[in-house]
Amino acid sequence: MRTWTALLAVTLALASVRPAAAQAPARNVVVITLDGLRWQEMFTGANRDYFKKNSNGEPSAAEKRFWRDTPEERRSVMMPFVWSTIATKGQIFGDPARESRAHVTNGLWFSYPGYNEMFAGVADPRVDSNDKVPNPNVTVLEWLNSRPGFKGRVAAFGSWDVLPFILNTGRSQIPVGTGFTPVPKAKTDRERAINELAADLPRYWDYGPFDAPIVYAALESLRTEKPRVLYIMLGEGDEWAHGGRYDLYLDASFRADRFIRRIWDTLQSMPEYKDQTTLLVTTDHGRGATTADWNDHGKRVPAAESTWMLALGPGVPPLGVRQSVTVTTSQLAATIAAAVGEDFTSAVKAAAPPLPLKK
Ligand SMILES: [Zn+2]
Repeated sequence: MRTWTALLAVTLALASVRPAAAQAPARNVVVITLDGLRWQEMFTGANRDYFKKNSNGEPSAAEKRFWRDTPEERRSVMMPFVWSTIATKGQIFGDPARESRAHVTNGLWFSYPGYNEMFAGVADPRVDSNDKVPNPNVTVLEWLNSRPGFKGRVAAFGSWDVLPFILNTGRSQIPVGTGFTPVPKAKTDRERAINELAADLPRYWDYGPFDAPIVYAALESLRTEKPRVLYIMLGEGDEWAHGGRYDLYLDASFRADRFIRRIWDTLQSMPEYKDQTTLLVTTDHGRGATTADWNDHGKRVPAAESTWMLALGPGVPPLGVRQSVTVTTSQLAATIAAAVGEDFTSAVKAAAPPLPLKK
């Protein structure tokens, strides 16, 4: 009798655990951000008015490379993986041509407030600069790092050396590969080579390297550490835009698309991740909408609050480019948690709900 009671108790305990686990759409989630990539390029590709002409009046190499006759061709030549795979097997939010919109709610329209909003689930007026101030908010990455099954399984990579402050690494204990040390604790020859590459590339920005070594470090972490929650911050596009280099801004977007494809292909090649990993991609802010202010953003630049979001993987029905839906950057935090069966809004009441991926 006692044995049966004990068995019943165990069975009931298992029954109460199993449905929640079975409901988790995915086991892992990967988040990639492309700093300051406008919805204009995401949905319509290159704009001819922005290219510089060669001295002889001929189209530049970038114009030849990225200009095509239709918006569909232009966006596909700039981001082939997004428009071949994510647009058909996943979902894309924020296309004004489909009467949809994605936007930040922080009212400031620059990086730290944008990243805080997407990871804290709500805009915070205290986060009003890009200064290296530890984030007062618990991000969804920090929260997941405290959840059963996720502890020590969260990792982040980004060249911008403010990233450790956004994730409050002093409190969250999330390992962050950043600056000129893309691999925080290099153990293998390959990891040491990635850090050497970061140091050996031209020191074009003082805070950290180009995006490539950062992506290599993240790919290596998938192979060696196998995080369940991985965040990769790509930053080049915003830098080239501030520098007025439309050609390199488009090229950074093209290479970001290739990085996304490489990360997705790597996930699908590993049994720990294959068909059990959701990919979310977005940006921290938009930019100006004219040739005079496209290179800038911030609250004095009209239209810089508009963004876009992509989703692919288990729990993301293949609805493609979403029609007549408005979403906010603050919804990303709960979406990240929901992808792996966790409810962030139960922990942070002010957090926005997950993206409406089921329509
Ligand atoms: Zn910027």
